[in-house]
Order: sequence, then structure tokens, then C-alpha cells
Amino acid sequence: MKASQFFVSTFKEAPSDAEVVSHRLMMRAGMIKKLGAGIYTYMPMGLRVIRKVEQIVREEMNRAGAVELTMPVVQPAELWQETGRFDKMGPELLRIKDRHERDFVVQPTSEEVVTDIARQELRSYKQLPKNFYQIQTKFRDERRPRFGLMRGREFIMKDAYSFDRDRDSAQASYQVMAAAYRRIFDRFGLTYRAVAADSGAIGGDLSEEFQVIAATGEDAIVYCPNSDYAANMEKAEALAPAGPRPAAVSPLSKTPTPGKATCADVAELLGVPLSTTVKSLVLATDEINERDEIVNSTVWLLLLRGDHDMNEVKVGKLPGLDMGFRFATLAEIEDHFGCKPGYLGPLNLKKPVQVVADREVAVMADWICGANEADFHMTGVNWGRDLPEPDLVADIRNVVAGDASPDGKGVLAIERGIEVGHVFYLGTKYSQAMNATFLDTDGKPKPFEMGCYGIGVTRLPAAAIEQNHDERGIIWPDAIAPFSVVICPIGMDRSDAVKQAAEQLHDELVAAGVDVLLDDRGERPGAMFADWELIGVPHRVTIGDKGLKDGVVEYQHRRDTEATKVALAEIAALIQ
Ligand code: ATP
Ligand code: MG
Ligand code: MG
Ligand code: MG
Repeated sequence: MKASQFFVSTFKEAPSDAEVVSHRLMMRAGMIKKLGAGIYTYMPMGLRVIRKVEQIVREEMNRAGAVELTMPVVQPAELWQETGRFDKMGPELLRIKDRHERDFVVQPTSEEVVTDIARQELRSYKQLPKNFYQIQTKFRDERRPRFGLMRGREFIMKDAYSFDRDRDSAQASYQVMAAAYRRIFDRFGLTYRAVAADSGAIGGDLSEEFQVIAATGEDAIVYCPNSDYAANMEKAEALAPAGPRPAAVSPLSKTPTPGKATCADVAELLGVPLSTTVKSLVLATDEINERDEIVNSTVWLLLLRGDHDMNEVKVGKLPGLDMGFRFATLAEIEDHFGCKPGYLGPLNLKKPVQVVADREVAVMADWICGANEADFHMTGVNWGRDLPEPDLVADIRNVVAGDASPDGKGVLAIERGIEVGHVFYLGTKYSQAMNATFLDTDGKPKPFEMGCYGIGVTRLPAAAIEQNHDERGIIWPDAIAPFSVVICPIGMDRSDAVKQAAEQLHDELVAAGVDVLLDDRGERPGAMFADWELIGVPHRVTIGDKGLKDGVVEYQHRRDTEATKVALAEIAALIQ
């Protein structure tokens, strides 16, 4: 491929809404272009990466015996009503109407459609097991689309669905997928961890997430360095011994004096232990009715990590008076108040600071305490005014680093990850709801045992960048780089020797099946190098007159700090 025939478009600056490095670099490298919130064009350079991700996924899914099909993006609501998800799913499900006022949804996943296919096509146990997959556009009207492709509204997912005749065989199908996922993520060349995830009531232990390790990840992962134990925070908390319960007293009756309360007061008030690395910030909110009567009190507990990194704020909600510990995310708080937490203040002591009419919620600031240093709780705390809005929010944790691992083999460590894949045993949830049965060996109809398996195809490149970049740009693993090799000729327009050597190397690599790009745009070396370092092509060969006189070219891997001289005759072999 020649650059002049391709499309290269790089930018010095990233747009101001690009908060994380992958979003910034993908914009600057011309890989994606924003059309609307969470909606992006995959530009030619970005699409090459996505296609490589898809290809690896496709090869390994096929190898694992799954069969590819493509289901409609727009799906009739009737199927979704059969499982109840049309009503239950909430605003993430995009519902649309056609010209006849009939309801449709834009697929966020496709359990209903694939189960409908199975009930029509898979009639006998002899046709089982079967695993159908697609690599397709999804739409989820995410509350907060952000970070570019990381949390888009329109995105590409590989979704697979297995159908089996009984539980044992379904669990075997699940294991086949879990193994295929390991091969897929190994091939991507990323550092990842498969972690146990919550599978709801049905699934037993059969739900795992594949998390790419990155400091900016939205998820907290709990693992034991001495054993195989690894779980996402939700699951780790579910497994942890029963957590502390807040005291069964009205929190309002124990309002600490603002400005005077200590961490210990707050801990006592809430009945939670305060570890040395955690500080708390608490606020109470009351739901009021039209007559200004309090109908429901809620205590919001915000835990700040000891280092006071506002990006690490955890939010918990302690509902009611006989409070069970139920944790909320900042997103839920935002939902609850109908405004961003940043707008909750100023937390004036005597009056409600915010009344959100349509939700009948008042924020009572009277008992805010925030700990910005040991045993000192601030009043007048106002997020969003002088502090960045807390962004990377995970659920509050009962589980902290240093706790004993549930398997008893060591202590727990916590790191952050990006969920790029999810395998899930579904049981008969969908087949029963949709009356999807096959005839078993005894001639009787039986509901399918199902599993579903997702990979975030467009999230993956973003996760790869979060993990692999430097100040100059992206560093793609070979397997998913837009091009493996870029040839940078110096003065190609002036020198026939350079032109000839560059084109010959290009042709030779193409013939050998190497994904090579020849940069024939005529850019100056500095600009050319900066572009390819930003775009992140792993291997670069620079060809100039000076070197050619000695029969050498320069080779530099994207991770190298300097170029190495290599004989022109040997470079093709070195790269392949
Ligand atoms: P998250 O917890 O990040 O919202 P999820 O658990 O809702 O993801 P799944 O339903 O498990 O997602 O979907 C399978 C995969 O699709 C996820 O593991 C993730 O890689 C990807 N994915 C989900 N939502 C998005 C999104 N909004 N943008 C890009 N990829 C996504
Ligand atoms: Mg989600
Ligand atoms: Mg998830
Ligand atoms: Mg998931």
C-alpha cells in the first residue's frame, strides 16, 4: 500500500472532550471521527485496526466450532416483549417506531433474535450443540458515552450464543468459549486477566470477564498474586464475608456537628470500619412529597481514597433505616438527583441546596462531612467548583488490598481493568421465556441451555492504547497494528536510487504477505516520523541516499529509542 493511495490524516491537538489517552491518540492519529455523542466514524486508519481485531476473533471463533451469521440491527419489538426486556431494559435500549407506528429496537445484543432462530431451526438434540456468532453493530444509549470508542453508543461487538441439550453440555460449551477467549486475547498481545464476574442467580460461577489491565480502566479487579484467584469487585464483594452493616439508628438523629466530626464519628454513625487508606464523605438526601414532608431518607456515603485522588472516589448508598449495604455509582447519584454531583453544592448548612422538582428530591446539606485530612470533615464541600468532577468511578468496596484471599493462599491486590470480553452461562432464561425447545432423546420437548459470549471489538483498540503508548503516540502490538511496517524514503522525489529501493522493498514485503505502507507523500523526515510514531506502526524502515551508498537502511522498532543500520539485502528477512 502506498500512502498517497491511502488516507493519512493526523492532528497536533486532540479535541477538549477527549479525556483519556486512547481517545486523544485515536483522534490525533485520524483513526476515528466524532459524529455525535458516542457515535464515531471509523476512519480508514482506524478501520484497519478494527478489521484485524475482527479477523483474530473470527478465526478463533471458527476454530472453536462457532458458526457465523449476521442478525438484523433493527429488530421487531414483539420478540423483546416475549422476554419482557422491551419494558424492563430501561433507557439504554433504543426503541424506534416505523411508519406504521410499530415498535422496534436497535440491537444492544441479540439473545431474542438468536433464540427465535434456534426455536425454528434447531429441532432435535442431534443438531446440538450449536454456537452462532456475529460481528455486528450494536447500539446502547449509554447514560454517559465517553472516552471515544471505549464507551460508545454505537459500537461493534462480537456476540455469540450457544445452544445445548443439558446443563453439563452447556457448561462444556462455556468452557470451550472461555478457552477460545484466552487464545484470542493472547493473540492480541495485550496484558489481560480473566476474572470471575457475577452471573446473577442462575449462572453459578460461570461468568468471566476479560479485563485488559490499564490504570484508567473503569473496573476494579481483585486478585491474589499467589494464586489463580481473580474476580471483578462486584463478585469479590459478593464472595467476601458478610460486610459491615450500618447501625440501625436514624442517621439524621446522629448528625455530627459539621466541621467537627471525626472519621471515627462517621464510621460509628455508619457502622463501617474506616481503614487507614479510606476517608469518607457523607451526605444525606431526603425525598419529599408535594407537602414538603420527608417520605424517604437516604444516606449517601462517598469514600475517598487516602491519597485524595478525586478520580478514585467511590460512592455508596445506604438506603432506609434498617440499612442493608447497597452501593451506588456516581452515575446513580446523578440519576437520583437529576444533576451531576458537581452541582450538588454549595453545601450550605441550613437550607436544602437543590430541589429537583420532577424527582421530588431535595438535597439537605445539613450533614455533610468530608474528610480531606485525618479526622477533619469539611463543610461547604463542592465538587465541580474547584475540584475536577470525579470520573473513574467503580463501586464502593468492602474488599480492600491486603484482605485475605478467599482461597487462603495469600492477600488480595487490586488493579484496574477495562472489560473487553464477557462469557456468561445463561441457563434456560431466554429459551423458557420464548418457549424455545428441541426434541430430546426421549422425544420430549426441552428448553435449550444457553450461553452468551461478547467481545467489545471497537473497545479493544482503545484498551490496547491505554496499555501501550508513550509521549509520542500509540504503540500497537503487531497483531492489530494498522500496518506492520512503514517504509520512510528520504528524498524519494530527488533520488532514483531511494525510490527504487523503497519500491522494491515494498513490493517484496507485499509479496511476502507483510502489511506494509510506503510513505510516498513527500513529507519531510521529521513530519513523516512524527506521524508514524503517533499512529503507532511497530516497524519503520528509513531509506536514504547516504545509507544506500553503503548498502544499508535504518530500522527502528516503535519501542526503540534509536535506529539500527541494517543491510538493504537483509531488511526484508528481518521484518517478516
Ligand atoms: P460495561 O460494563 O462496560 O458497560 P457490559 O458489561 O454492559 O459492559 P456486555 O453486555 O458484557 O457489556 O457486552 C460485551 C462486551 O461489549 C463488553 O465486554 C465490552 O467489551 C463491550 N461493550 C459493552 N458496552 C460497550 C460500549 N458502550 N462501547 C463499547 N463497547 C462496549
Ligand atoms: Mg454496560
Ligand atoms: Mg460490565
Ligand atoms: Mg459485561
